[in-house]
Amino acid sequence: MSEKPIVQAINLRKTYNPGTDKAVEVLHGVDMQAFAGEFVALVGQSGSGKSTLLNILGALDTPTSGQVLIDGVDIARLSSDGLASLRGTKIGFVFQFHHLLDEFSCLENALIPVSIRKGAPDKDDLAYAKRLLIRVGLESQLSKRPSQMSGGQQQRNAIVRALCNKPKLVLADEPTGNLDSHSGQEVFTLMREIAKETGVAFLMVTHDDRLAAAADRILRIEDGIMTEVPAPSSRDRS
Ligand code: ADP
Ligand code: MG
Repeated sequence: MSEKPIVQAINLRKTYNPGTDKAVEVLHGVDMQAFAGEFVALVGQSGSGKSTLLNILGALDTPTSGQVLIDGVDIARLSSDGLASLRGTKIGFVFQFHHLLDEFSCLENALIPVSIRKGAPDKDDLAYAKRLLIRVGLESQLSKRPSQMSGGQQQRNAIVRALCNKPKLVLADEPTGNLDSHSGQEVFTLMREIAKETGVAFLMVTHDDRLAAAADRILRIEDGIMTEVPAPSSRDRS
């Protein structure tokens, strides 16, 4: 493929508590990449390093060695302002817990990253947020508080919040982990469709093999080593 990846990890290693007797290497040289519009599932047992990898890809944590390129830029070369701007403009985050703020409405929560980036949302930001909220089925919830919405609605609100700055990459760490299987499936399907519609690259951690099977690609991390699960065409789908 000649296209440039949106996110690329090259030989990433991560040691927690380096130089102490608690030092432990949890990523042992991870390589991966994801392209525009791709929906990639990241699977692996608890403690295998999935969240560590996502945090490093999202510049929330630094690797011990190796490189992360976001949209072709080596993030280790960025200043702290550059990193903050990268997190604000190019990357969206969705976590297992929605982290919505109950003093704000659904629409206001969706626009929080825009406010952080530029002070206050303008007319276009507002229109885009509304369009996305309608797209995920929250048109009747725009003025509701998070506590007035269901778990699935809260997570759809959080997904729109991750998309409002028009990022190139969305990192989602077990976004369906707190949902029942029906809502989880709905949220998953929405994210996959939105990846196609917006050209955003999605990387989603999940424990649910059935959900992962519907992704464009599956990356599996085992004891800090990444392997790619063969493409669906060659996978046993019985
Ligand atoms: P996963 O998300 O796949 O469950 P994590 O990336 O959270 O795995 O954790 C990978 C390993 O790193 C685990 O053994 C975990 O205990 C350890 N770990 C995670 N965060 C820290 C930390 N801040 N300090 C020390 N060890 C950590
Ligand atoms: Mg985790």
